Amino acid sequence: MTITIHRGLDQIGGCITEISTATSRIFVDMGQNLPGNGEKTTPAQDKEMVEGLFKNNPKAHEAVIYTHAHEDHIGLFDYVPKGVPQMIGEGAKDVLLEKYRLLCKADEAAGNDPATNLRKRAKLKRFKTWPRSRDPKPFSVGDIQITPFFNCHSIYDSYMFLIEADGKRVWHMGDYRQHGWMGGKLLQLLRWRATNIDTLITEGTMLGREEECITEKEVSEKMAHVMRSFKYVFVLTSATDIERLASINMAARQVNRPIYVSSGLLNAAMKIFTRREAKTLGDLFYFRPRYYDAFKHLESMKQQGFVMITNVGKLADMDYLRRELSEAETLLIYSSWDGYYKDPEQVSINPMYAMFRGAFHNVVDIHTSGHADRKTIKQVIETVHPKEVICIHKEKGQSLESLGIHD
Ligand SMILES: [Zn+2]
Repeated sequence: MTITIHRGLDQIGGCITEISTATSRIFVDMGQNLPGNGEKTTPAQDKEMVEGLFKNNPKAHEAVIYTHAHEDHIGLFDYVPKGVPQMIGEGAKDVLLEKYRLLCKADEAAGNDPATNLRKRAKLKRFKTWPRSRDPKPFSVGDIQITPFFNCHSIYDSYMFLIEADGKRVWHMGDYRQHGWMGGKLLQLLRWRATNIDTLITEGTMLGREEECITEKEVSEKMAHVMRSFKYVFVLTSATDIERLASINMAARQVNRPIYVSSGLLNAAMKIFTRREAKTLGDLFYFRPRYYDAFKHLESMKQQGFVMITNVGKLADMDYLRRELSEAETLLIYSSWDGYYKDPEQVSINPMYAMFRGAFHNVVDIHTSGHADRKTIKQVIETVHPKEVICIHKEKGQSLESLGIHD
């Protein structure tokens, strides 16, 4: 078995890992480089790079499997040759299909050609899936056997993999954390299933950051606390992060405030989460938002107060709403990565986060990372106790040496 890390050793995101035998190979993730991370490429260069991967080292049996639906893991799926099966979690596929349906709709509304997004959606429809299960079934690509295990990350339906071939066992962690609502049993699962591992592949996003992460539960408590002091609360966050939405959901419920959402994707994603998860995972993941319509809702929102979940693309709409409210009673909870408005390079790439913050008089940051903190990375390596460990998805210059571990 050969493991090739094509991208991700010295950058966060843009992950592509190849695992091959004499007759078969899989790619774990086919990620787009994140803005400000790794080399900046054009779509033509991305296409050429992916086509190059498939021309090189071809095997009779091939597939691409995805840990999760963040762009830095799935962003290049469109360039994967047609005959190569692509696979992802069932829930992640549902959300992606909605995302591309809405993108096509937005193209049409703006008078843009929807051809690219239509093609991507058609390609996504052909993705094969696996269900989320406590006791997942393995599947095979040629002589490589893969078992997908659910893990906790800042996007819905994320996975890690046990990959077995040629008598070797590889465990690929994907992006993960312990401090989310569903991350508490990570080490227990690894102790049970990640046994006799030859190679552990882990992410190292937080290696260069000392802080221990607060839990999603603490995020929710902090939110409920500030929601008590402000009648009109806006929360800026990601539409696909089910756990953060659950934290907001819980906080709003505690202060008895109705939730509104400002975007089609937020509305659709919450419907998917509720349909797929409310039964098994409970109240936390049961969402009943109102899809904001100024004409219909403004008066009752002014009277009752609200929690409005939104994203940067909705700045104009939110600015209109904000102007209708008393400034002293209005708060923005900034619940996204702070680098988007603090890091000058990020601001120059996308100034919308800084602009969104700037539109509000009262702002508070309440956030926690989607990634494992240093302590968790160390615990994972010690728990799995592999013969070798490879650390990807990390900043240039970072290594496991800082944890006292040799990779
Ligand atoms: Zn991710």
